[in-house]
Amino acid sequence: MSGKEITIAGGGPAGLAVAHYASQRGIPFELFEAGHKVGGNCSTFKKNAFYYDSGAHRLHDKHPETTSIFKELLGSDLQKIEVPSQIYRDGQFIDFPLSPLNLLRFLGAQRFGKAAGQIIKNKLLTKEQPRDFQALAEKSYGHTIAELFLLEYTEKLWGLPSKELSTEVAGKRLKGLDLKTFIIETFKNSESKTEHLDGSFYYPKLGIGTLFEKLAENSKGSIHLNSPITKIHHESGRLNSISFGQETHEVSQLVNSLPLGLTLKLLNPKPPQEILQLASDIKFRNVILFVLFLDKSSVNGNGSMYFPDGKYPFTRVYEPRNRSRDMAPNGKTSLIAEVPCQKQDSIWTNPKGLSEKIKEQLMQIGFFKESELLDMDIQKLGHAYPILEVNYQSKIKPIFEYLNSFQNLYLTGRNGLFAYSHIHDHMQNGKRIVDELKF
Ligand SMILES: Cc1cc2nc3c(=O)[nH]c(=O)nc-3n(C[C@H](O)[C@H](O)[C@H](O)COP(=O)(O)OP(=O)(O)OC[C@H]3O[C@@H](n4cnc5c(N)ncnc54)[C@H](O)[C@@H]3O)c2cc1C
Repeated sequence: MSGKEITIAGGGPAGLAVAHYASQRGIPFELFEAGHKVGGNCSTFKKNAFYYDSGAHRLHDKHPETTSIFKELLGSDLQKIEVPSQIYRDGQFIDFPLSPLNLLRFLGAQRFGKAAGQIIKNKLLTKEQPRDFQALAEKSYGHTIAELFLLEYTEKLWGLPSKELSTEVAGKRLKGLDLKTFIIETFKNSESKTEHLDGSFYYPKLGIGTLFEKLAENSKGSIHLNSPITKIHHESGRLNSISFGQETHEVSQLVNSLPLGLTLKLLNPKPPQEILQLASDIKFRNVILFVLFLDKSSVNGNGSMYFPDGKYPFTRVYEPRNRSRDMAPNGKTSLIAEVPCQKQDSIWTNPKGLSEKIKEQLMQIGFFKESELLDMDIQKLGHAYPILEVNYQSKIKPIFEYLNSFQNLYLTGRNGLFAYSHIHDHMQNGKRIVDELKF
């Protein structure tokens, strides 16, 4: 292949972002996706007239160009949503993100005073940059609040002690409770919600997956579904073809969004042993969705509900109907509980074993009665999050140096770049890559 073509590996958000920008520039592409549909871990499932996403997704309005692309593609099917989120702790709901006012209500004056003292002391006295998530959480929120709301939750989500996790796993969650805000809000006599309550986002009428179905439909190139890439062949610092089963496809430029470890395994000839060794040390977190279809019109008004308490196997529960009324039939609703795990855990092979416990716990909280449960479903999401351990950068640096030595390979995606990235990041990377391509 000598022309101006791009081969794209993976039809999730990152691969499709490249497809979109290639179409915009009139560059032909061929995209190979292992699954039977596009969207990857950002898609929507349908069962019995109920729709639900691959985890509680929202389109954050963080990158104006991304938002306007999807507004144009979806028109009135993309809606701006304002829904609050809450944390469930010790039998009570508290608004998320945390703010001084709602912490005061939750903790009571005495505990709040102690917690506020810890925050102020930590912010004033801790000068050094936190090296791990625990240190960051304690510096930002003090020990009392960190322990109640952040450390246990984070350990459940990522599967490692907070001390072993990079500060980057915080994402944007620890933003918005700086010392100034804390002091102002503590002493201002106002019932108004704090500015950092970010319950506003865009959401398609029939689920997040619509974004990428539309992006795929409107891209002018070939999308091959059910085409898992089984080998990436290279010679003299260039990739020359990919195989899927018995078929081979020549490559001019390859944009790859497959998980980092998988990419290395697919290379033929194999990478050096030390690179394969480093790759075996990087890990991904998976998520199992337990879906409960309910014969009631609403559970509550929350966008997402977070469960830091270790006694619950789930980290987050959401009600799709609160993102769009069309996600459930009239008069019915559903709940999705997200349970993070490793593929070695017994629940990955036998998730049904946990269904009953989750159902019981959700009923105990008061979300529904046994008689209202219509049906259940389970979905497994592999490679949901790259596990960002402290100093993970030193493990992945040599891997990237090795992969960057191929002249016609470009990497993108959450698992391809090993980054805690989101839809708008994939769109920006897609644009950058298409701009940088050297034919
Ligand atoms: C629970 C959860 C909630 C989230 N919430 C949000 C949110 O609110 N907002 C937001 O912006 N982002 C959110 N995200 C992040 C977002 O879903 C991911 O960033 C995004 O799915 C990553 O896209 P990707 O294309 O990099 O990877 P993926 O979505 O994993 O796609 C990779 C694709 O490659 C394919 N593939 C794998 N192996 C092969 C092979 N050998 N050959 C060919 N194809 C292959 C896979 O089938 C898949 O389709 C969330 C993610 C999760 C898990």
